[in-house]
Amino acid sequence: MSKRAHNFNPGPAALPLEVLRQAQEEFVDYKGIGMSIMEISHRSKEYEALNDETQKLLLELMNLPSGYQVLFMGGGASTQFATIPLNFLAPGRTAHYVVTGSFSEKAFQEAQTLGAASVIASTKEAGFTRLPAAADINVPADSAYLHLTANNTIEGSMFAEFPNTGDVPLIGDWTSGILAKPVDYSPFAMVYAGAQKNLGPSGVTVAVIRDDLLARVNKNIPTILSYATHAKNSSLYNTPPVHTIYMVNLMLKWVKANGGVAALEKANTEKAQLVYDVIDQSGGYYKGIIDKANRSIMNITWRMGSEELEKKFVKESEQNGFVGLAGHRSVGGLRASAYNAVPRESCEALAQFMAEFQRNNG
Ligand SMILES: *Cc1c(COP(=O)(O)O)cnc(C)c1O
Repeated sequence: MSKRAHNFNPGPAALPLEVLRQAQEEFVDYKGIGMSIMEISHRSKEYEALNDETQKLLLELMNLPSGYQVLFMGGGASTQFATIPLNFLAPGRTAHYVVTGSFSEKAFQEAQTLGAASVIASTKEAGFTRLPAAADINVPADSAYLHLTANNTIEGSMFAEFPNTGDVPLIGDWTSGILAKPVDYSPFAMVYAGAQKNLGPSGVTVAVIRDDLLARVNKNIPTILSYATHAKNSSLYNTPPVHTIYMVNLMLKWVKANGGVAALEKANTEKAQLVYDVIDQSGGYYKGIIDKANRSIMNITWRMGSEELEKKFVKESEQNGFVGLAGHRSVGGLRASAYNAVPRESCEALAQFMAEFQRNNG
């Protein structure tokens, strides 16, 4: 077998080797039909079964037994930044946004192009190094919806608790946090996630929407951009990215076969702790960016004494088989994205490399 990299890419990101292997095995001949899944109609019985099974598996793993629909949509999570206000921000109403990082800020800016949007809480002045307390986020009762980013991929922070929004729909961007640990998603009227971090390859975005919110979709919007269209047609209104959804299906089965989301939480917490421990025990050589209480178990971020040293760290990490450790171009520093598919051995190797780097360059 060829050597696998220690893949800490932020997205598209690592996939489990078992999933890649199975996809390889079925690449040419899907379940004995003599064709690849990519070569058949999205209206075939084989694809319809896959579509149905994938939707059910996701709801099962999210522990949302009823009252929600899973939609497979194109355009990435960024398109949801626009389709959410398009569908749910009715004229004369205001939508509220919690701004805790670059992606939530983009979501807010996109909403402003379509209607009235307002920031209800922000940690921008603190450089996005922490999150607001859920109890301090008080949304007006007449708000169209409250939007937040559950895991801030670029900054490395993750909400543990969510605001009580009463009857106001709570909408969460879960792109980099979905299925990372057991979460009570029931306060959310909508959860969405680009697949390329925790669910599979890029090319599809899942939108999980509660029936009562679906009933409120704005009427005079393009058919293809209406959630109602995709819900009514079980995500088969037009041609979906069948191969990507197939990969999501394999990924969800992998999660289930490996003990489900509870087992992932244990693994993810331990993986992240291996790296955070090196940071916290480095005497300030590695400086964690996010307040400890708000740290993400998916995206671990830190800085070093100088940009020069950070560059040297990245370069030597690459020479040692690590990929994807440079921070996002907008913030710099370092970031290790340890999503569900990143094996513990990669985090162990990274912790070891970091300690060694400090010994050699401290
Ligand atoms: C990656 C990411 C996005 C952007 O996703 P695209 O699919 O590239 O549009 C949005 N929000 C969060 C939280 C992300 O991690």
